[in-house]
Amino acid sequence: MTKKWVYLFKEGSKDMRDLLGGKGANLAEMANAGLPVPPGFTITTEACNAYFEAGEQLPEGTWEQTLRALKTVEEQTGKKFGDPKNPLLVSVRSGARVSMPGMMDTVLNVGLNPETLQGLAELMGNERFVWDAYRRLVQMFGSIVKGVDRHEFEATLDEYKKKTDGGKDTDLTTNMLRDVVRDFKALYKKELGEDFPDDPYEQMRQAIAAVFGSWFGKPAVDYRNAECISHNWGTAVNIVTMVFGNMGWDSGSGVAFTRNPSTGEKKIYGEYLLNAQGEDVVAGIRTPHTIADLKEELPENYKQFLEICDLLENHYRDVQDVEFTIEQGKLWMLQTRTGKRTAAAAVKIAVDMVREGLITKEEALMRVAPDQVNQFLHPRFDPEAKTKAKEEGNLLAEGLNASPGAATGIVIFDADTAEERGEAGEAVILVRPETNPDDVHGMVQAQGILTQHGGMTSHAAVVARGWGKPCVAGCEAIKINLDARKFDVKGREIKEGDFISVDGTTGEVFAGSIATIEASFEEEHDLVTLLGWADEVRKLGVWTNADNPEDTARARAFGAEGIGLCRTEHMFFEEERRPTVVKMIMAVTDEERQESLDKLLPFQREDFEGIFRAMDGYPVIIRLIDPPMHEFLPPREELIEEVARLRCTGENPEELVEKEEMLQVVNSMWETNPMMGVRGCRAGIMYKGLTEMQTRAIIEAACNVAQEGVDVHPEIMIPLTADVNELRIEREKLEKVAKDVMAEKGIEVDYKIGTMIEIPRAAITADKVAEYADFFSFGTNDLTQMTYGISRDDAEGKFLLDYVDRKILPHNPFEVLDRDGVGVLMKICVEKGRTTKPNLEVGICGEHGGEPSSVEFCHIIGLNYVSCSPFRVPIARLAAAQAALQHEYGRKQ
Ligand code: ADP
Ligand code: MG
Ligand code: MG
Repeated sequence: MTKKWVYLFKEGSKDMRDLLGGKGANLAEMANAGLPVPPGFTITTEACNAYFEAGEQLPEGTWEQTLRALKTVEEQTGKKFGDPKNPLLVSVRSGARVSMPGMMDTVLNVGLNPETLQGLAELMGNERFVWDAYRRLVQMFGSIVKGVDRHEFEATLDEYKKKTDGGKDTDLTTNMLRDVVRDFKALYKKELGEDFPDDPYEQMRQAIAAVFGSWFGKPAVDYRNAECISHNWGTAVNIVTMVFGNMGWDSGSGVAFTRNPSTGEKKIYGEYLLNAQGEDVVAGIRTPHTIADLKEELPENYKQFLEICDLLENHYRDVQDVEFTIEQGKLWMLQTRTGKRTAAAAVKIAVDMVREGLITKEEALMRVAPDQVNQFLHPRFDPEAKTKAKEEGNLLAEGLNASPGAATGIVIFDADTAEERGEAGEAVILVRPETNPDDVHGMVQAQGILTQHGGMTSHAAVVARGWGKPCVAGCEAIKINLDARKFDVKGREIKEGDFISVDGTTGEVFAGSIATIEASFEEEHDLVTLLGWADEVRKLGVWTNADNPEDTARARAFGAEGIGLCRTEHMFFEEERRPTVVKMIMAVTDEERQESLDKLLPFQREDFEGIFRAMDGYPVIIRLIDPPMHEFLPPREELIEEVARLRCTGENPEELVEKEEMLQVVNSMWETNPMMGVRGCRAGIMYKGLTEMQTRAIIEAACNVAQEGVDVHPEIMIPLTADVNELRIEREKLEKVAKDVMAEKGIEVDYKIGTMIEIPRAAITADKVAEYADFFSFGTNDLTQMTYGISRDDAEGKFLLDYVDRKILPHNPFEVLDRDGVGVLMKICVEKGRTTKPNLEVGICGEHGGEPSSVEFCHIIGLNYVSCSPFRVPIARLAAAQAALQHEYGRKQ
């Protein structure tokens, strides 16, 4: 027995999408649910694959099965394919597993020829219509199946349209259409050297082969490569009885969403045209009407259509995107699929559908991509102002939506000027062919970034996303001329200083400024509701990285349940404290150093008090000082120059002595590889009194706020432990100070001491390290650097993104946690740590803590919490919930 290559609609269902393609499976599903679908059948994706295996031949049995299925359709419709008296016409439609641009378009009206045309005209009493259908067939078959340039057909058609009064396709007379067909056929013969096939079976066979053939056409292959879609899926072919929307003013065709795909509003949203066929609506040949008008024009059909949309939503339990045609007052459904939607719509629809009882909360949580949450948190263009800008023709180009958010400002072509004018308070958009680390100072000051080249992982995109700054990358349509300080686009010239607006959420670039609206999380009621459901199911805590009371308050509003990383070094960098910090580092004697430390203490204590108050009732992890000490001193090159200058001019001997001393210290501290040098706990160990001062500031602050009635939970974190002995030494110092302070203050606070895990050795020896740690926190930025032996700051600007483009690495490991390497270290660490201390608290405080796939991994290995920047807290809440719905928590692999 030969294989089954062909399925009638009644033999299929929505679950057969792999075999029948999305379109075929859903047509079958609708037909079987009793909806009005024109009879038809599907040739499988397997037949497509077999077609290529057989050297582009229809596999054995396919054609016979097709003819047999066609017979059934003839019986169902009472018409006959190729019969001059009562002809059946069909469409031949492609349809892969997922909808895919680049696949062959649909050919309508297959089966028409001069004989069937006559019969149909008599039967319908409408000669104009059949000639219109015929000219469409020749046009579509010629261009789509045979590859004749469709503009050539359109040019011919335009000639005729010009001869009419109205100038529209519907104004063409029967005689004109007859002439159009004659000219089309002549064009066909001229281009292809053969006659247009008037044998209906030949038309069908060639159309089927062309659909299959288009699977390996260049556009489809390119698309699949870009989207990482397998080339083995193949496409199905759907043969569907024609219904005609172009049979007069009681006919029409349209497309609709069962809910508004941009706002989520529960209201049919769509467009249609009367007296039109197929893709006329989207092709823009006439201006379509909004679906609400159908209520006036064809009330019966409108009512039925609403009922069907309702039924479809209930059946699929999701928003549907449908195609329909009305033939002389009868409604037909031609396609349905899950509707694509914006982030705002995704959230609203998910929440509404739970309230309507259509889906569960769990399903709702799975229907919103965590990254979509991002779009709620950044300022965005006022939708009305944006529409207006489009209507006024100010949309210049579209690039990649590399980093979400909206920005308006003046165009600046270099980083120095961007920095200068940005600092002066101007809103600047930095426009570059591409960016690299030399541009970073300008990027800091820019409101938004636009690049001509580069992808989603280009330097501009990565840096902008890290900062939450809007960025449109790879916008090839703008032609930048740096010398002339301008770019050209769409025949327009945008000069330096001109205003533009970039929408990093959509990738659009506009001329002029567009008003923005601030995001207000609390007012996004649906999102707040959805995230509330997320909190009910997630196992991971979601904490935040915040160094100051402002960020802390924001993160609390976003739902953070603790601070996973409060860095203390920024407190050292502040202007008024800097001289004291420098003195502390340069101190020769212990007494000198202690003097400076004593001065720093009150500053630190005050900072901590503010943070503790904002985090009343929640844990706060404070990391002792981490960066190499020389970072607080002036750069070495600068000092060398300064000393040389002062020596030459002899203008200021005192300053010279001071600078020489400083240079000496800097020289003595100089390291070839400072990121692996005296930093983290090594600094705490080497600089006497530093750890003690910081601990005192923390515990004093904790005691002070506890006395005010704040429920305070400080956790002191020691960075960069490589060996347990480092931790032991630091811990002993800490405990002593804590004890002293609490005795002085006469109050006990509950505190913990733990370490960051960022050196592979610490992870591997976690059982020993855990003896002296109450908690672990993965610093996955350093852990990734040290595991790969890659310095992030250097690599991202040099080879790393190239590695990703060339697929040497699947992702940038600093963005998406590397499960196979870094992840394994983490897993070992958790397991070993908890053998020593079963209840060891383990979290992550690297940037990965806010990246959905990394959050999922943290759930799988059973961390207690993830900690991320305030803006990523809502994303992490949703990602943690999705992980909980999909994976067992703390699975032993
Ligand atoms: P696409 O994948 O590009 O949406 P479709 O196969 O859905 O392609 O068809 C393109 C257009 O032709 C759509 O508007 C569709 O509704 C219309 N169409 C397809 N088959 C028929 C048919 N049998 N009768 C009437 N219109 C049809
Ligand atoms: Mg199409
Ligand atoms: Mg379609």
